[in-house]
Amino acid sequence: MSTPAKGYAAHSAETPLEPWNFERRAPRADDVSIEILYCGVCHSDLHFARDDWGMASYPVVPGHEIVGRVTAVGDAVTNYKAGDIVGVGCMVDSCRQCSSCNSGLEQYCAEGFTMTYGSPDRHDNTLTQGGYSDSVVVSERFVVRMPEGIDLKSAAPLLCAGITTYSPLRHFGVKKGHKVGIIGMGGLGHMGVKLASALGAEVTLFTRSESKVAEAKKQGADHVVVSTDESQMAAVTETFDFMLDTVPVQHDINPYLNALKPDGTHILVGLLEPIEPPVSGAGLVFRRRVLAGSLIGGMPETQEVLDFCAEHGITCDVEMINIDQINEAWDRMAKGDVRYRFVIDMASIREGNSAA
Ligand SMILES: [Zn+2]
Ligand SMILES: [Zn+2]
Repeated sequence: MSTPAKGYAAHSAETPLEPWNFERRAPRADDVSIEILYCGVCHSDLHFARDDWGMASYPVVPGHEIVGRVTAVGDAVTNYKAGDIVGVGCMVDSCRQCSSCNSGLEQYCAEGFTMTYGSPDRHDNTLTQGGYSDSVVVSERFVVRMPEGIDLKSAAPLLCAGITTYSPLRHFGVKKGHKVGIIGMGGLGHMGVKLASALGAEVTLFTRSESKVAEAKKQGADHVVVSTDESQMAAVTETFDFMLDTVPVQHDINPYLNALKPDGTHILVGLLEPIEPPVSGAGLVFRRRVLAGSLIGGMPETQEVLDFCAEHGITCDVEMINIDQINEAWDRMAKGDVRYRFVIDMASIREGNSAA
């Protein structure tokens, strides 16, 4: 039997989020039913709902940084039981049989993974709905366990912002002795600073604004470079092993390539648009530099980043909100006015700030 759920949905690109009652599917044999406790607010939520990427479907309940408590499990579920505290990130399904899926890299599924919201379900073709709601039903393969002792509120954003920055740092082998530049100091950037530091790297934050220098040092950056200051940029020519670029809008990456040593790697995790202005071929060729991209992380690595953060005492800096503050939060997020992630306390949807 499907179960009634309460959420906040966008019904078009122009309308604000509003309370919406809908149904969660009847659990399948491999499904975990989850009562949602917290949900992080990611910039992608806003982009998707406002159809900035031309892929929206409505109504949509956004939210893919979900922490909750298991309420029931299907007969075939082996890893979870009622009462467990679990997480759900950006993916809820994939083909499960291509080489990427078989390698635990479901984010690169040959058929495309099923997004937590706004994707057709692979079995019944209904649209998936995300975590700005009181419950969710997800196949256990796409559920992770929240480690003992981790602060659940501030751990929610690890399921997107955390894994998005952790996965490339791990994949490209960042370790003690490496010099790593983090470009941008938003939700992704501040996690990049913390995670690269915890991996032992010497971390430099690149920011356009002088005003973020003190804050970046507080977050654990060893150095800060104001990228709009040409003399500061010139002073770091050919200095870095890696550059983790979290900026989601078009920007000139040539000055950052020049800051890489020979064989250095520039990793894009925020930009989905064409690179503009164009990248200098010489900037790559003359120093054998690598320009790379990376998308979130697979399910095994999503569990790994949670465990890593629990072990190292790393969490996201969050500002808690109630669900009825979500539209205001989106406006502030669009202006960069949040340090560094809003997280919705989902008790607020159960207490009545919800659909009648
Ligand atoms: Zn996200
Ligand atoms: Zn696949």
